[in-house]
Amino acid sequence: MSKKPIVAICYDFDKTLSPDDMQAFTFIPSIGMDKQAFWDESNALAKDNRMDKNLAWMHLMLKKSDANNLPVTREAFKALGKDVKLFKGVPTWFKHVNELGDRLGLEVRHYIISSGLKEIIEGSSIAGNFNRIYASSFFYSVNGVAIWPAQTVNYTNKTQYIFRIAKGFLEEHDERVNDSMPDDELEIPYENFIYIGDSDTDVPCMRVVTSKGGYSIGVYNPETDKRARVYKLFEDGRLNFFAPADYSTAGDLFETVKEILECISTKENLKAKKRELKALSTPYKLYKDVEKILGNKAGGKRIPKREQELLASLKDQVEGNTD
Ligand SMILES: [Mg+2]
Repeated sequence: MSKKPIVAICYDFDKTLSPDDMQAFTFIPSIGMDKQAFWDESNALAKDNRMDKNLAWMHLMLKKSDANNLPVTREAFKALGKDVKLFKGVPTWFKHVNELGDRLGLEVRHYIISSGLKEIIEGSSIAGNFNRIYASSFFYSVNGVAIWPAQTVNYTNKTQYIFRIAKGFLEEHDERVNDSMPDDELEIPYENFIYIGDSDTDVPCMRVVTSKGGYSIGVYNPETDKRARVYKLFEDGRLNFFAPADYSTAGDLFETVKEILECISTKENLKAKKRELKALSTPYKLYKDVEKILGNKAGGKRIPKREQELLASLKDQVEGNTD
């Protein structure tokens, strides 16, 4: 059997898989700050200096760590990941979705596209479920100390990762991501993408995915039940669906993804059927095209024997009665 069709599920992280910003669980308390005060200071730094918001919090993380004698190593940031809280059902979600995909003849791959810190996500209990984690990250000195941002991921630059995943050019430095690629050569067709996010930073990705035939799902915290954002995104046409961020198999989100996967599976089965039919009709087209060319060449006279033999061999390759 040929390779299974692949489905890519891309997730935002903060407030999509986790109920808060990842810095809120351990890092911000460890520097003795209130969550709101940290983000107010970070956003003011960005505004006052015309700075990217991600670069601002990354700078502030290093500055505050230094002031509090906290290590700024990859390991220290990864260690923050184990305390990141996740929405209900997230730890077992991937297994259930993969099993469902398997039953439907699909290979499901999971990807993170987050503005948060990659190292923290890598330290979280669910990191092993992702084919790739795209997020902001630090560059470390030879002594293992964070000295500079290596990547920042936000708004429209989140979309490049959709193209990377679709085209199979996964490395951040691979500039072939900008090359055009015919749809039938894509590693994962855009119609097989599902993007799950919660906020405005996800809008460009939602837009890219839905405009290319994929699916976007907005989630909201089931405990606070704050739905204004998903209602707005849905009304603005950014979302195909929305659901509470409950990732258990009893949740609406699982049901929605199940229906999307069933739909993708049906479409893939029809595509495969079409390819089989094409393989049947193509030899007939070739035979008729060559017959026409040789007929024209003969100009109303009898087609020479060798050419008649060629035609007969082409006709032999056509299945069924075509007389
Ligand atoms: Mg988010």
